Amino acid sequence: MPDRIAIRNGKVLAWMDGAHQLLQRATVIVEGNRIVSVGEDAPAAREIDATGMAVLPGFVNMHSHVTDTAFTRGFLEESSGPKDFGNLYRVLPAVRNAIDARDACIGARLLLLEALLSGTTTIVELGYDLELAGSADLDNAREVAEIAVGLGLRCYSAPRYRRGYWRGDSAGKVGYYDYADGGRARMEACVAFCKALNGSHAGLLRTMLAPGQVDTCDLDMLAETRRIAGATGLPIQLHAGQSPSEFRRIRDTQGQSTIRYMERAGLLGRDFMIGHGMFLAETNDVGTIPSEELALLADSGTSVVHLPWVKMRQGTLMNSYAKFLRAGVNVALGTDTHPLDMIHEMRAAAIGCKLAEQSQQATTATEAFDLATVRGARALGRDDLGRLAPDCKADIVMTSLSKPRAAGYDDPIKYLVYNGDGCDVDTVMVNGEVVVRGGMPLRADLDEAVAQMNEAKARVRAKIVL
Ligand SMILES: [Zn+2]
Repeated sequence: MPDRIAIRNGKVLAWMDGAHQLLQRATVIVEGNRIVSVGEDAPAAREIDATGMAVLPGFVNMHSHVTDTAFTRGFLEESSGPKDFGNLYRVLPAVRNAIDARDACIGARLLLLEALLSGTTTIVELGYDLELAGSADLDNAREVAEIAVGLGLRCYSAPRYRRGYWRGDSAGKVGYYDYADGGRARMEACVAFCKALNGSHAGLLRTMLAPGQVDTCDLDMLAETRRIAGATGLPIQLHAGQSPSEFRRIRDTQGQSTIRYMERAGLLGRDFMIGHGMFLAETNDVGTIPSEELALLADSGTSVVHLPWVKMRQGTLMNSYAKFLRAGVNVALGTDTHPLDMIHEMRAAAIGCKLAEQSQQATTATEAFDLATVRGARALGRDDLGRLAPDCKADIVMTSLSKPRAAGYDDPIKYLVYNGDGCDVDTVMVNGEVVVRGGMPLRADLDEAVAQMNEAKARVRAKIVL
């Protein structure tokens, strides 16, 4: 078989009988862009020797903003506390205003490289916001998406549209401001963008409808989004449950909870993802969401995209993702900001959950790993991603098990979640092609990307006005 690749001698995490199961020394056969077999050897033209490595499904990062994160880090971490959410409403917009299209692409390239090098094979990129003067147009979104697939990633590009925006003042008060046309022209342009690009680049580039935040859209815009999703088959991701003030805003203006409001807009469904989902009640305790509302999410197949580390860094955490799982709600995982390392994010999810519930038993490494793989794939409606099984896409990550700190572990998942990080990733294959080998990208010059980023950072910092 001329185009077959055999990945031999690794500890393989196979998907069997609806669960990840570890095979101690096994072979994965890849042909073209798909997996042919897991656990059975066969003749192949090429071999990858995975001795001393775990062979795992690639990670699915369900929520990222790669055009600004390289510039907000180092700047945002200690800029405000959780009480006024000033990061979100005041400092973040100020940094984003200082980024032009060229620097956005330079930042994006570096972060997409980080994602790939730490084992992400599918990334959802949500861009940033419309009101940025001349710097957030759709040509830029397209360029960023093409950088992602150029590096070898599978990318879902999700440019955002909304009716208006928020701004926080220095006293922490949040104001809402409408765009002149209620954001309708931008919405039309985003929908056209999604239709045009979906499935391009041999299917590596797909798109997603992304109405901005639940409190910056109106009911008509959300209902129209559902109608378009029905007509096009595009999935939807909406930022919702980001802060207590957002919950109060929906309650005060709509007279109902955020979940009821999203239901009224017709959004709930298997193709609908709630980005953040931490304040779907007035507090961060998922246990205070009425059980009928949790049932609405579970029964409709709606997914929550959990973004633990960005919130933990601000001094708060969801209590807890496991409560969503126990209520039957699918939970996926994303980094939102930095680091774009899904192994690190799995640890944040697992430890955050245990801290929130004050219990070591609140969750397991396997549960956290599922968030980053099969549950993300489920949110995307993709049963061909997030698992190693015949007929799935050949999105495969190989992580070293020979480093000193891996000693003592039999289970590579426990190792990664509790003791490893993205630097353990040696080889990444996406769609049947090896795009990272020996921890280095094969389609980009890493040193050059870092040098360009440092120059861009200096330009952006000089332009920030708080
Ligand atoms: Zn976000």
